[in-house]
Amino acid sequence: MSSPNMKIRDIDVDGYEKVVVAQDPDSGLHAIIAVHDTTLGPALGGLRMWNYGSEEEALRDVLRLSRGMTYKSACADTSLGGGKAVIIGDSKTQKSEALFRAMGRFVDTLGGKYVTAEDVGIGIQELEWLREETPHVTGLSRRSGSSGNPSPFTARGVMRGLRACAEEAFGTSRLDNFHYAVQGLGNVGGDVVLGLSMLGALISVTDLSEERLERFAAFPGVNVVGADEIYDVDCDFFVPSALGGVINDDTVPRLKCKVVAGCSNNQLLEPRHGEMLAERGILYAPDYVINAGGIINVSIEVGPGGYDERRAVEKIENIYTALKEIFATARRDGITPELAADRVAEHRLTEARALLDSVTGSAPTA
Ligand code: NAD
Repeated sequence: MSSPNMKIRDIDVDGYEKVVVAQDPDSGLHAIIAVHDTTLGPALGGLRMWNYGSEEEALRDVLRLSRGMTYKSACADTSLGGGKAVIIGDSKTQKSEALFRAMGRFVDTLGGKYVTAEDVGIGIQELEWLREETPHVTGLSRRSGSSGNPSPFTARGVMRGLRACAEEAFGTSRLDNFHYAVQGLGNVGGDVVLGLSMLGALISVTDLSEERLERFAAFPGVNVVGADEIYDVDCDFFVPSALGGVINDDTVPRLKCKVVAGCSNNQLLEPRHGEMLAERGILYAPDYVINAGGIINVSIEVGPGGYDERRAVEKIENIYTALKEIFATARRDGITPELAADRVAEHRLTEARALLDSVTGSAPTA
């Protein structure tokens, strides 16, 4: 049941199963949920809180992100579909229990077609408020039997992915003899830096937070560079771990690495930037493949039998194999790794739609 004064309206968007906007004057909630595709399972994707300039801007973001989740989950073979939700608002000043409980009621109106999780601007406390109103929430505390914070699992997947990249670009599975340029020392980037530092690698790092820079500068092999300087570091791996769109017309010519591989979503500003990397002989690990550790972890929680960390970790290890196969396809077919990954996802979706069609006579319309 939604709040008495909550207004929910549907928006028709071509290629999306369901897009809904909620406005609730009592709590101040203004949010959008986009369900891109549920062919493979419920649409799972994080809830983001961001100070968007307008509803149109928020809509653009949620549509792009939810479609990305369909591809990420399909490629990682998680039996999940793709969806995403955004709350329009300042996560530093506008959070309240009432707001997140209203969001929980909004999520609940979709009856499990969309399952939510943490994303930018959201923490465990907010998810717990949501959980008061709907069961369709993942990534709550481990104590409650949930899969917990996904970030360490994403970092683990990135480390596996780096190994596949090292084999493809340098013919070695060792990660210690390389120089890495890591942009962003947050939940995931920070763990990756710690892992690399423990192996004995050389790591140039940057972040906007002085506190994080100070903390990580104390680890062996780590040296700090300026936020813009990171693109010019003469290194082997550039590891985007902060923002999307960082591989663009300005940065590609500046990069002095052999590999771009990190956890950020939507690293390529446009698909053509993947081609620019290939032209420069730089190997690119498709972001949604190398950063799938967190969604794989959550998929185990949603799947049959409930959460089991061992099964999650085993599956995350497969990111290595998935990337090896994508690189091999890209080489064989003369295409970018990004396109090779898209084809894996699209192939799985097409097969599942055909199967659904043969069983029920119709597949969910995307
Ligand atoms: P986070 O918010 O914990 O960390 C991001 C870090 O980047 C912060 O320390 C921030 O100060 C820094 N930063 C922001 N702008 C910067 C800039 N211009 N230059 C340098 N540093 C900058 O986020 P996170 O959870 O570590 O996620 C990092 C990226 O990975 C995001 O794009 C996120 O969408 C993506 N991702 C995260 C997960 C996960 O499990 N957390 C999973 C998949 C993808």
